[in-house]
Amino acid sequence: MKKVYSSSTLISRSIFAFFICTTLFLNSCTNSNSDGYSIHTKVDSILNLMTLEEKAGQMTQIGIPAILEQDGYWDAADTLIIDKALTEYPVGSFVGKGYYPPSRQEYYRLIKQIQDYAVHETRLGIPIVYATDAVHGAHYTESSTIFPHQLAMAATWEPKLVEEVAKITSYELRASNTHWNYAPVIDVTWQGQWGRGYETFGEDPLLTSVMGAAFIKGSKSNTATCAKHLIGYGSSQYGMDRKNSIIPERFLRQYYLPPFQEAINTGVKSIMVSSGMVNSIPCHINKKLITNIIKNELNFDGIIISDWGDMQFLSEFHKTARNDKEAVKQMVNAGVDICMVPYNTSFAKHLVELVNEGEVSEERVNDAVRRILRFKYELDLFSQPNSHHNDYPMFGSEKHQKLSYKVASEALTLLKNKDNTLPLSSNKKVLITGPSAHSINYLNGPWTRTWSGEETTYNDSNKNSLYDALLNQIGDSKLSYIIGSSYDEDINSDKAYEQALKSDYVIVCLGEKLATERPSDIKSLELPQEQIDLVKKLHKADKQIILILLEGRTRLITEIEPLADAILMAYYPGQEAADAIVDVLYGRINPSGKLPLSYQKYGTTPMPYLHTVTDRSDNNGTYTDYDPLWPFGYGLSYTQFDYDSIYTNSNTMYEDDSLEVLIEVSNAGTVNGKEVVQLYVRDDYASLDPDFEKLIAFKKIELNPGEKKTLSFLISKQDLSFVNSENQWVCENGMFTLKTGNRDTQLKQIKIKYTH
Ligand code: BGC
Repeated sequence: MKKVYSSSTLISRSIFAFFICTTLFLNSCTNSNSDGYSIHTKVDSILNLMTLEEKAGQMTQIGIPAILEQDGYWDAADTLIIDKALTEYPVGSFVGKGYYPPSRQEYYRLIKQIQDYAVHETRLGIPIVYATDAVHGAHYTESSTIFPHQLAMAATWEPKLVEEVAKITSYELRASNTHWNYAPVIDVTWQGQWGRGYETFGEDPLLTSVMGAAFIKGSKSNTATCAKHLIGYGSSQYGMDRKNSIIPERFLRQYYLPPFQEAINTGVKSIMVSSGMVNSIPCHINKKLITNIIKNELNFDGIIISDWGDMQFLSEFHKTARNDKEAVKQMVNAGVDICMVPYNTSFAKHLVELVNEGEVSEERVNDAVRRILRFKYELDLFSQPNSHHNDYPMFGSEKHQKLSYKVASEALTLLKNKDNTLPLSSNKKVLITGPSAHSINYLNGPWTRTWSGEETTYNDSNKNSLYDALLNQIGDSKLSYIIGSSYDEDINSDKAYEQALKSDYVIVCLGEKLATERPSDIKSLELPQEQIDLVKKLHKADKQIILILLEGRTRLITEIEPLADAILMAYYPGQEAADAIVDVLYGRINPSGKLPLSYQKYGTTPMPYLHTVTDRSDNNGTYTDYDPLWPFGYGLSYTQFDYDSIYTNSNTMYEDDSLEVLIEVSNAGTVNGKEVVQLYVRDDYASLDPDFEKLIAFKKIELNPGEKKTLSFLISKQDLSFVNSENQWVCENGMFTLKTGNRDTQLKQIKIKYTH
């Protein structure tokens, strides 16, 4: 039975007429921005009316699966459960998860049902806020635009594209009545075995900061964002999800905190705490991290939210709390404002008891609730609790899909092109093979329509696989498709070999098993032997081999790299990407992506490009110990870019000055192309072993054949600084080396002096 909302039920449910009148007055005040009341005043007025139970409810977040009328069906929420959830401890927010992708109308109806109850049936009428993970488009809503995953977005090195992606994602989320996006993921990732690297912007703090900020900026007009996961999540010691990271405070401040600092500066409204630990302290109970550093030192006035189920995680896995109640005490006292419980209101019950027992102060609770109410006011939920799907005519439109294609086309990273194998000639015969050759899922990756992205039932039927796109390009008389192997099983590799003998080109599409979070951890970076063997067998046919890598991290291809004539890193490029890949293969797009992480060569602990001079130096006075297959920032083009010079107008930088660094680049080839000009710095001598190199600026430019451009980068003392042994950012007097150039060959460098 659906509930009918009327003013009479509203009045009958009210406890004190006075409260209701005041609340309605407060709600009406917010209908206009010119009501004369500041958000601060409105928040305090409501807070003064709230009972402890109501406050604890606001701090509680429930997962949608827990309130559905029928298990798995998003048709309607169970009115009895809603009634309980919003009456006893009126829950402040809800979060979705992907079992199947509801239409935006279904989404709208479901969220509106909860919202109407919260606004019309609860004593104070405080609106709920609904959150979801839209990490590469509003991917949990049917027919929404799917974008490349963040790692691919980072490979574009083009923040304007990320801003556009965020704008469209937030628009399509609002079309489904959703106001809060659990993105961007700004974990700096130094562990390849960890399965969630593809959700991040890679291994560099600057690239992550810039892309994260672009995402936050782009989302602003429609949704709130959530920077996650605080902190060190991408660097667990043994490479597994939700485990322990050993990170000295100096490293934490230098490499992991800057993206969060930048997110706060850009106006992010919430931060999600990692389910993992840093130095054996679960992040959820780390008061120094949450309260001292994030809230006090970095002046963050938004919401700190737990990750899914972390109240239970503290007692069941981390063993810092004997039971859930103790976990609540630890979390709230550390500074967590909302707990993603997510199946019931037990958090609120425990919190009320803890406040009554004096274990958690009401002041801490008030601080959390103030943050939550401010968040809701800033989202304008009090005056507009529901959006309407009819207001979003561009949802899933061709225009939006074109952006997805564009991002994919700028992300694709050419790693090898022996004797200009690419672009291919259209009149040659092609065999396309491999586990990802004829699949939409391998292009989209996890978090697509469902959580793992594995299900094929919900694929958009009009999208091209690589095989489909190739068929459109060369027709079936020149194209054959034989799968060869699945992720880890030989299916018909002999048949593929036979067909390879009759072809000119063999395009082998390798791939990763679709999974996310804990199921996506792997014990080794090696690709399954079946995929390696497929390439080895095909190589025997003595044809040109092109490898396409559809993967969320750098799986080892060291053994088969020499067997390939061309290699294209495609990441998880999204569902418009098959056409973009074929356009690269046939030269309609000149690839311009650059690796946002080091492509690992060995099966040992992955080494990121950020490491000390000593870490890189061998015993011969040279620096060969950073030895990836391809370095961070690497990527080829069909044209050649020459780095003609790097210079400054002064060779000394003083204390608060900035210094202009000029880099001249020209296109010495015969086709138009885009290049990412990267500027790195090295402190020649420092009080501790300096980083061998550190990215301090970058810009993507486009050059016609024969064209030359001079780029200007303004650098400051901060670019030359590092965190010293006292955990302070410092810039020490002395000489610095500034470097630019293609990441493999043409290195151009100059020296500058810093003095204060
Ligand atoms: C993930 C988060 C996600 C949350 C809500 C957790 O399991 O770690 O990244 O935002 O679920 O879906």
